Amino acid sequence: MNKPVIATPEVTNYILRRFNLHADKKLGQNFLISEDVVRRIADAAELAEGDAVLEIGPGIGTLTQALAETGADVTAVELDRRLLPVLDKTLEGYSNVRVINADVLELNVNEAMGGKTFKVAANLPYYITTPIIFALLEKKLPVERMVVMVQKEVAERMTAAPGGKEYGALSVAMQYYTEPELAFIVPPDCFIPRPSVDSAVVVCKNRTVPPVDVCDEKLFFKVVKAAFSLRRKMLSNALKNMGITAQQAQEWLALAGIDPKRRGETLSLQDFANLTNTFEKIKNQ
Ligand code: SAM
Repeated sequence: MNKPVIATPEVTNYILRRFNLHADKKLGQNFLISEDVVRRIADAAELAEGDAVLEIGPGIGTLTQALAETGADVTAVELDRRLLPVLDKTLEGYSNVRVINADVLELNVNEAMGGKTFKVAANLPYYITTPIIFALLEKKLPVERMVVMVQKEVAERMTAAPGGKEYGALSVAMQYYTEPELAFIVPPDCFIPRPSVDSAVVVCKNRTVPPVDVCDEKLFFKVVKAAFSLRRKMLSNALKNMGITAQQAQEWLALAGIDPKRRGETLSLQDFANLTNTFEKIKNQ
């Protein structure tokens, strides 16, 4: 369609002035002004005509426009009511875009997407990045692929390998449900207003089969949470947070073949799976 590209400083500033809009910091509003970044996000989503894509937080329609140009069916969920008349105007003529005014954390996403398999593409509001990601992953929605812009530091945590300080519960969850890759870094000058931190785009291919076998997923994530709850302490201490004694924790670790002096941040997904699968044996002792 022959519409001006929104992802430029000139067009974005024009839209903001024309609608007398000021970015709301509380809602994490930083609008993209780089055509290149927007195109790379849309490309990474690998959309084809007829695909369904969920965009969280369309803002003034910058990324939405690039997603719509692929021919995919775009569902854009925006919380800020002030942006609705703006989106009406900027996305005028794109019959494949639907805007829903809602808090994405409250919305029944599965219903909104008609129960179909979909992809996610978003420049996420940074104040709720983790809750949004967990909501999408834990509800086991039929998500095929997620391309999300997050703070660089969060992207590093999502993709971290065991052993470093970035590795934590978020890394384990992301890597259990998806194959996350940090695709590229986006500097602050690609946005209006400029955020104070670097951003990064993470591409996650959702797994159809988990990478490790666990007898109980809820228990798996409880173990992960406990292991990271006291990062500086040895595992035998941290695992007392599972409601067991130090002695039981020691026996449990021995059964799972894990040195009790290790710290949670050194455990691989397989180690966490082994711990989960042996928990039953000590629980009732
Ligand atoms: N997609 C636009 C872009 O790239 O320029 C805007 C991205 S901005 C970082 C995040 C957007 O998420 C804002 O438009 C904000 O109003 C919206 N938002 C914040 N909290 C939200 C929520 N709970 N549900 C849906 N949208 C939300």
